Amino acid sequence: MAASRKLASFRLPPLPTVGELIKLYNLRAEKQLSQNFLLDLKLTDKIVRQAGSLRDAHVCEVGPGPGGLTRSIVNAGAADVLVVEKDTRFIPGLKLLSEAAPGRLRIVHGDILTYRMDRGFPETISKPWEGDPPNLHVIGNLPFSVSTPLIIKWLENIANRTGPFIYGRTRLTLTFQKEVAERLTASTGSKQRSRLSIMAQYLCTVRNCFTIPGRAFVPKPEVDVGVVHFTPLVQSQIQQPFKLVEKVVRNIFQFRRKHCHKGVEKLFPEACRLELTQEMMQKADVDPTLRPTDLTIPQFRALVDAYAHFCTHEPSLLSYEFREELRLKHLARQRNKPVDTFMDK
Ligand code: SAM
Repeated sequence: MAASRKLASFRLPPLPTVGELIKLYNLRAEKQLSQNFLLDLKLTDKIVRQAGSLRDAHVCEVGPGPGGLTRSIVNAGAADVLVVEKDTRFIPGLKLLSEAAPGRLRIVHGDILTYRMDRGFPETISKPWEGDPPNLHVIGNLPFSVSTPLIIKWLENIANRTGPFIYGRTRLTLTFQKEVAERLTASTGSKQRSRLSIMAQYLCTVRNCFTIPGRAFVPKPEVDVGVVHFTPLVQSQIQQPFKLVEKVVRNIFQFRRKHCHKGVEKLFPEACRLELTQEMMQKADVDPTLRPTDLTIPQFRALVDAYAHFCTHEPSLLSYEFREELRLKHLARQRNKPVDTFMDK
């Protein structure tokens, strides 16, 4: 107890500022890697506060870069901070930070898209899924090109309780392009409602915490940034395999301005399309003239359950992809054309 109080009150000793470190190690932001740094520690403290109490916590920080956010995480009392950074240029600066916080900062030079976080922390921190979340947080200010594929991967991990979620309902605090943050948290009927809203919200409580203006970053990105907090739900709102949910939601949103039955139709091969669509809408008790953006998560659940029911009776439906059928038809048409026309294309 006394030890943990000591940890919580730990503050880093005087260090070069993040700006000085950038100069010291000549850490020019790489445009190609979409690097935009946060140098204002008041702002990084504010991001870290969105995660909740980090007292004695284990934290995985993704993309620490020059370490501004890392300092705020350490200062918030985290006992064990594991940082995963892809760009070697940042490692010496992070080592300096690690020496200032002995035993509390572990540095991994690697790619978060392939890093095995399920091996990064002791099993003893695990909490049962039905209980409180474990004292483990994932925090990161990543390039947008990484944060979107990463959240999709982590949502699938939540559904399967793998990756960071083998420890329980690990909470995530991440930055996204403002529009993506709005999509993640958009409610029924809002114009930002999208595939990402359903996929995130059927699995998590999602909170759009605040917006950081682009000018707060060095160099300034083209867009503003949203900080989003995710807590996995004890019971997901749709109880079907992730890939199946993803398929139904993707098909429905492919015609986001049309009536939702348009997208549902594309789940079925042409021969049985109209009949099965009608049956599926009736079974799910969903008005086929609603727009995809107007559907609630319980309505998506009913639609996915109905589709799963059809797939149980006709397993070949599972592998049916409308776009793949279109692609094959297109190829066949191309092959039937005279060779020179095909070559001219
Ligand atoms: N966290 C720092 C901050 O807020 O100032 C840096 C933010 S910068 C937008 C993103 C950081 O993520 C960079 O340091 C970059 O090298 C790192 N990064 C990019 N892709 C990564 C990946 N796939 N795995 C780990 N780190 C990555």
